[in-house]
Amino acid sequence: MKELILLKCGELALKGLNRRTFEDVLMKNCRRRLESLGKFHIYSSQSTVYVEPENEDIDLDEAQDRLLKVFGVAALTRAAVVEKDFQAIQRMAPAYLKNLGLAKTFKVEAKRSDKTFPMKSPELCRELGACLLEAYPHLTVDVHHPDVTVYVEIREKAAYLHTDQLHGAGGLPVGTSGKAMLLISGGIDSPVAGYMMAKRGLRVYAVHFVSPPYTSEHALEKVKTLCKKIAPYCGRIRLAVVPFTQVQEDIRDHCPEDIFTVVMRRCMMRIGERVAKDNGCEALITGESMAQVASQTLQAIACTDLACQMPVLRPVIGMDKNEIVKIAYQIDTFETSILPYEDCCTVFTPKHPRTRPKLSYVLEAEEKLDMDLLEKAIQETEYFDIG
Ligand code: ATP
Ligand code: MG
Repeated sequence: MKELILLKCGELALKGLNRRTFEDVLMKNCRRRLESLGKFHIYSSQSTVYVEPENEDIDLDEAQDRLLKVFGVAALTRAAVVEKDFQAIQRMAPAYLKNLGLAKTFKVEAKRSDKTFPMKSPELCRELGACLLEAYPHLTVDVHHPDVTVYVEIREKAAYLHTDQLHGAGGLPVGTSGKAMLLISGGIDSPVAGYMMAKRGLRVYAVHFVSPPYTSEHALEKVKTLCKKIAPYCGRIRLAVVPFTQVQEDIRDHCPEDIFTVVMRRCMMRIGERVAKDNGCEALITGESMAQVASQTLQAIACTDLACQMPVLRPVIGMDKNEIVKIAYQIDTFETSILPYEDCCTVFTPKHPRTRPKLSYVLEAEEKLDMDLLEKAIQETEYFDIG
């Protein structure tokens, strides 16, 4: 028996003339995610993407799991490929649709896009229904609220048999909205922020600031693990690791303690923006959430924003911590994020940070800083490709 996976593209249908490009990117992303599993023939027809394994020993369960994480896929179905002949369909159906054994009620729906097929849809439903009732005598037909719906689709190349579809990851194919640089810490919020923007079609790059010896190798490993965990959704991630120790020491030694964090965050944005540009990114992404900590008040965010020109996307800005945590569980980053390693943000943090920093006060403090240290940090940035 030949089996394949059918993907329904959600929002893509809304994109008019762009649809073709979107579908092409989606198919490319699917190919890349499945590459290590074996050879697949992936093509689209009538707003469905067909994912056909080219040999029998390919692990289709694993392929299905991977495809459920590909953005742009609204729904996914595993289907049996059958010759366009009712006898063949009848022979295949009872054995393939084993989950009918566990159901009490069912119905059959037929779609016949190939109008040359001799049976019309109502007849197909009736005949296939009768055949399934014979094979599973405990079943009854319920056309309104069936436990299982059996679909038989007569399409261009073949007939396809399947049951209910699974929800896909939704969103838009990664890469169709451009590229953006995620400022990733080891915390809970920023990996979720990256995931959310990838869902809107952005290809996500990442930048992480380290401050050895104040931050350890474990902290960096943790960030690499987080990138690996979101890569099944975002695709391969290029991680830039910026040595930030000297910049932070300079701030500690020359700025008033109460605005240490805001000044540090402004330096992160400046460096982040440069690294973003160097990699062709057009926006920054952070995991900031309104008023979660002193550096995330409206006034602090305003000061931070003024340090760079690029748009700063903050997808979790209006979310409560528990809402962010829920997504972190869903994408399996939570357990890693709560590992207790120091982040450079928690090094030298003031006891009493200013929650309403004034820009003039911040600018005055920054005059005492050696801005060449930022350039030096950029030059010493190291890159890792993850996922
Ligand atoms: P998170 O859970 O993402 O760490 P947070 O609530 O701990 O967020 P902060 O530590 O204030 O918040 O950081 C705010 C944002 O700044 C983070 O979401 C992240 O985008 C960025 N950030 C913080 N630390 C780093 C770092 N070491 N490298 C890169 N970006 C960072
Ligand atoms: Mg943090």
